[in-house]
Amino acid sequence: MTLLDERLTPQGPARPQLRAGILGATGAVGQKFVEILADHPWFKITALAASERSAGQRYREAARWIGSAPIPRAVADMKVVPLRDNLDCDFVFSGLSARVAGEAERMFAAAGYPVISNARNYRMKEDVPLLIPEINPDHTALVHNQCWDRGGYIVTNPNCSTVGLVCALKPLQDAFGVDAVQVTTLQALSGAGHPGVSSLDALGNVVPFIGGEEDKIATEPGKILGMLAGGRIEHATMAISAQCNRVPVLEGHLACVSVKLRRRTRLGEVRSAFAAFASPISDYNLPSAPRSLLHIFDEAHAPQPRRHVYLEGGMGVGIGRLRACEVLDYKFVVLVHNTVRGAAGGAVLNAELLVRQGLLLPQREAALVAAS
Ligand code: NAP
Repeated sequence: MTLLDERLTPQGPARPQLRAGILGATGAVGQKFVEILADHPWFKITALAASERSAGQRYREAARWIGSAPIPRAVADMKVVPLRDNLDCDFVFSGLSARVAGEAERMFAAAGYPVISNARNYRMKEDVPLLIPEINPDHTALVHNQCWDRGGYIVTNPNCSTVGLVCALKPLQDAFGVDAVQVTTLQALSGAGHPGVSSLDALGNVVPFIGGEEDKIATEPGKILGMLAGGRIEHATMAISAQCNRVPVLEGHLACVSVKLRRRTRLGEVRSAFAAFASPISDYNLPSAPRSLLHIFDEAHAPQPRRHVYLEGGMGVGIGRLRACEVLDYKFVVLVHNTVRGAAGGAVLNAELLVRQGLLLPQREAALVAAS
């Protein structure tokens, strides 16, 4: 048991809160971190970092704020700092562009910071957890395989479309096994960051290409649904074919999914498997965990991004239109909030899980553990 565990109440750690830094704080994902952490019971924002373009400015000047609520007052006047490895915080969330995340996240981990990242750079690295707390909470054990000198580590969350897909596949994989998946995504504009796709490309249009996305959706689920054995992940084997489209929607990625199951199954059993899914972390009392991860819609027109993307505050995953598939076995539609469940909210939940597991500590305690 760690010092922090002893201070954990059913609601979380007793005060003082853990101090969080945000790398890439000015971007679309960084802004969601700011929104979500503004009233967080366990974490307090103490550092905001971004590029040289933003550094030195107050947050309200540097961030082209796209949230519908105003910038939280506690951070509006905070100074944005450049990416230096001496930030005033216990750990960092990263919403950095993948162009810079590789080097920056390595620098922070080497300096002793836990890095909870959204970027793609380390997702498929063997010793880095690719985490969805309700699906593979045990994979956090991989951080013990990482070799940073001062107790730092990197934990990642999956691609935003992968998150919704895997949450839907998990109950099917557990109950019947999944052989093959065909998925076509309709992805929101906010998934491309800010300013993202130009209005002339986006308005009244569909762009049938998102760079690198199909490969991520094809490869990440095997790792997340894999088994931890002997300190390594044995990837789940299933063939996944993905086609990705950018559509003129603000928030929420929809995926049309067909699956081939490993054993013959009736439609009612598939529905029951979705409905019976039980989160393995439901008794951890994590502040950002949805009461129910999967929401099943039986009406023909649901789920829809504009109507249903804020299920469980954006942390729920919608599943609808379940029916037989004429080519594979069954087909259905999945909806996920890309910047909440698929990015910042998912990363905050990852951090909460790490706190509960005694892996995320105030810097002073982490240094003691690393030295012992
Ligand atoms: P974004 O809006 O373009 O924001 C990028 C952030 O990175 C900004 O804060 C930017 O700071 C910072 N940055 C860029 N170059 C930098 C440099 N040289 N040094 C320091 N900081 C730099 O992108 P986003 O959509 O928020 O995505 C952020 C990350 O999350 C990406 O890796 C993305 O793939 C991943 N992700 C995004 C989503 C989504 O739905 N948007 C979902 C899952 C994962 P400045 O403002 O100062 O330039």
